[in-house]
Amino acid sequence: MFRIAAAAAEAGYDLAEVTRVARLANERTRSFGVAFTGCTLPGAEAPLFTVPEGRMAVGLGIHGEPGIDETSIPTADGLAELLVQRLLGEVPNGVDAARGARVVPILNGLGSLKYEEMFVVYRRIAQLLTDAGLAIVDPHVGEYCTSFDMAGTSLTLFWPDAELAGLWQTPVDTPAYRRGSVTTAAQADTSARTALSAGASSILDAATLEDVPPADEASRTVAVTVLAAVQTIADTVDTHVEELGRIDAVAGDGDHGIGMQRGSHAALAAARGAVDAGAGAGTTLARAADAWSDRAGGTSGALWGVILGALAAKLGDDGDPEPAAIAAGIVAGVQGVMAYGKAEVGDKTMVDALVPFSSTLAQTVDGGADLASAWRTAADAATRAAAATAELLPRMGRARTHGQNSVGTPDPGAHSFALIVTAVGELLTTRKENANV
Ligand code: ADP
Ligand code: MG
Repeated sequence: MFRIAAAAAEAGYDLAEVTRVARLANERTRSFGVAFTGCTLPGAEAPLFTVPEGRMAVGLGIHGEPGIDETSIPTADGLAELLVQRLLGEVPNGVDAARGARVVPILNGLGSLKYEEMFVVYRRIAQLLTDAGLAIVDPHVGEYCTSFDMAGTSLTLFWPDAELAGLWQTPVDTPAYRRGSVTTAAQADTSARTALSAGASSILDAATLEDVPPADEASRTVAVTVLAAVQTIADTVDTHVEELGRIDAVAGDGDHGIGMQRGSHAALAAARGAVDAGAGAGTTLARAADAWSDRAGGTSGALWGVILGALAAKLGDDGDPEPAAIAAGIVAGVQGVMAYGKAEVGDKTMVDALVPFSSTLAQTVDGGADLASAWRTAADAATRAAAATAELLPRMGRARTHGQNSVGTPDPGAHSFALIVTAVGELLTTRKENANV
């Protein structure tokens, strides 16, 4: 999909057209993998899952999700047959496999499978695809998308139509993937490089050196509270990083702790840079939101960016926002998450904690409570709702494929959200008490 999208952009397609062919490439791609061992995240003491001696996990996820099934280890030919049979059973709509369709087979090593072994498996894959009357185009055997030290392999079948086949031929030269020969192009001058020559110590700093929009005194004071809240978020994530990873490993890919850590610390650095530059509350939180979604790397990072971004828009850079405006910002953030991620309450995602939090906050503020106590009431509702997700079957996100496994464990995103809003509630209470003194 990346290769097709990049080739389309290089050929001058506009953004909508690049999106169209990227979607089409995604729809016309099917992968299936097997593993003989799980993978171990750097720094972790144990692998994300284990496979018993002599057995093979079938249908695992590239991010370390355990397989959906297990069999005894087949022969190399038997493995080829299993992979091809699974994928020929799921030929995408619009492909007429019976009429000799074109297919690009990609046999991918997951980290510690030997190339020799993959070539032996590929020999039989090629025979099977040819016997099925398919036209093999540009076969790949190698390591293209590994999963740390996982011993395993995945077969991808990409079914290009005429347009995709043309784009697929564009040469590629990236650090990890080369195909065909590429002539070097001149590097474009970028504003980041201009900022670098103006004294930013890195491209990342360059963004924070930009001017901040004007803000009044009151909003700059609120920005300091925003910074303290983001600091609290990062501290809370640090304290619970291992627990969050462990919960996510039950049915997901084990990265919720490190993803939240990367996101919240990037947000903290951005918020600090904004406050130092004299930004108001809205700009401070908006910069934090962007940094979080840029750097977190997971689904939850993008969603945290949506929540904080919506709240930032309501805070603005002038005046001290009313509790009702803050509650409205959170409600807008939750609506954004649901519009973007398409999850509803009951799907076992962070939405299960977000909705009770935002509705309780809005109602309690509406009833005349001050922000700190309304926030604490809402955080209690979020905590109860997050705990209750343990009993649910996941219907969205990575955990969907491992539904049954996750019963008894809460949703990681809902749990981290509850921990965070609880800690922020304590911060708001302390700040309020200090202000009253
Ligand atoms: P990833 O799933 O990319 O590995 P994380 O592990 O950081 O990202 O976050 C997983 C959490 O993201 C889940 O526990 C769930 O709360 C949340 N999530 C995943 N998909 C959705 C979605 N479509 N809508 C709302 N929340 C989601
Ligand atoms: Mg995850």
